[in-house]
Amino acid sequence: MFRISKRMSVIEESPTLATSAKVKEMKEKGKDIISLTVGEPDLETPKEVKDAAVAAILDNRANHYTPTAGIMPLRQAIVDYHKKYDKIEYEASQVIVTEGAKNALYTLFQVILDPGDEVLIPSPYWVSYTEQVKLAEGVNVLVTSTPENQFKVTVADLESKRTERTTALVLNSPNNPTGTVYTKKELEAIGNWAVEHGIIIVADEIYYNLCYNGNEAVSMASISDRIKEQTIIINGVSKSYAMTGWRIGYAIGNKQVISKMIELSSHSTSNPAGPSQYAALAAISGDQKFVTELRETFEKRLNYFYPLVEKIPGFKVTKPQGAFYIFANCKEAAEIAGYSSVSEFALALIEEAQVAVVAGEGFGFSDYIRISYTLEEKQLKEAVNRINQFMEKKT
Ligand code: PLP
Repeated sequence: MFRISKRMSVIEESPTLATSAKVKEMKEKGKDIISLTVGEPDLETPKEVKDAAVAAILDNRANHYTPTAGIMPLRQAIVDYHKKYDKIEYEASQVIVTEGAKNALYTLFQVILDPGDEVLIPSPYWVSYTEQVKLAEGVNVLVTSTPENQFKVTVADLESKRTERTTALVLNSPNNPTGTVYTKKELEAIGNWAVEHGIIIVADEIYYNLCYNGNEAVSMASISDRIKEQTIIINGVSKSYAMTGWRIGYAIGNKQVISKMIELSSHSTSNPAGPSQYAALAAISGDQKFVTELRETFEKRLNYFYPLVEKIPGFKVTKPQGAFYIFANCKEAAEIAGYSSVSEFALALIEEAQVAVVAGEGFGFSDYIRISYTLEEKQLKEAVNRINQFMEKKT
């Protein structure tokens, strides 16, 4: 066997990407699978965004190395965006453009954590936080939320897990996998608590534009200057502009942290892909009509799909307020269908009902499954029909 570092033994492959790969393999074998696994909009990247990338390639602006932190017009556009939409003032030197928000988070944890430093992670959580913290030799401290509390953690929950080693808190609102959106008041309480204890707030706002039915996301950094100083915002173009394949994210916040992230990236990535940066520039500085259209599309789908999912025997759900996932407790459904665990139930859904979902284990909640509603209504309906037929056959 080839030599593999000990470092790799502490992490596991992303379960969402692993399930997507399984679905792809089954589809290639000719199986008609409906995949509710993916964390990406099914809409196409806007034409003007694609055109901007092509133009930058053809007139030779995008084909060589760029500054590690990203091209200045894009860093400035990100600053302008936060000023326009959230009234937060930053300088371009406080921005690093990265290869997706995922890479921004990875680099950030490498920069802020020493071995043994603790990171508070509300659970359920997005699968990569814990693995990235481990890779930075940090310690994950999970703070469990409940559906009764809309999957939100409170200051009391966080305080009960705080120690001398608590270095950072990761807050993801709107949330993957639950769709929970924290209110301004809730964020303010958590933000003030973090400031009081010198805890860095990692605010993952990647689903910021995707809130439904009157819910509204608030940026953590917009609440007060003190909270802003302690917060690193993570965001990107993947979800809001249907640009997952372009791999552009960013971190914005404390100048010293950002400059260390740039230093690290100068040795790891050099810079995010040039054409993608020009595409992201067009997206972020554009008229945002596409974002409105995307948000409305997903709101409509949620309102159509949620009542159908709610009625599947044994599925217990809480209506999401944002992002594009439903996180369903399927313990009872698994029992009804004769499975001893929800992971087995989720596997059977792929293999027998030909509907793919992600088992909740990777998000820290093994009785749950995550269902993405990034498909058209017709397919969402068909997926529910298949699950209902599967449940009927099993009981
Ligand atoms: N943060 C959360 C909560 C996510 O769900 C994702 C993607 O699924 C990311 C960050 C990373 O996004 P990207 O690397 O595509 O910008």
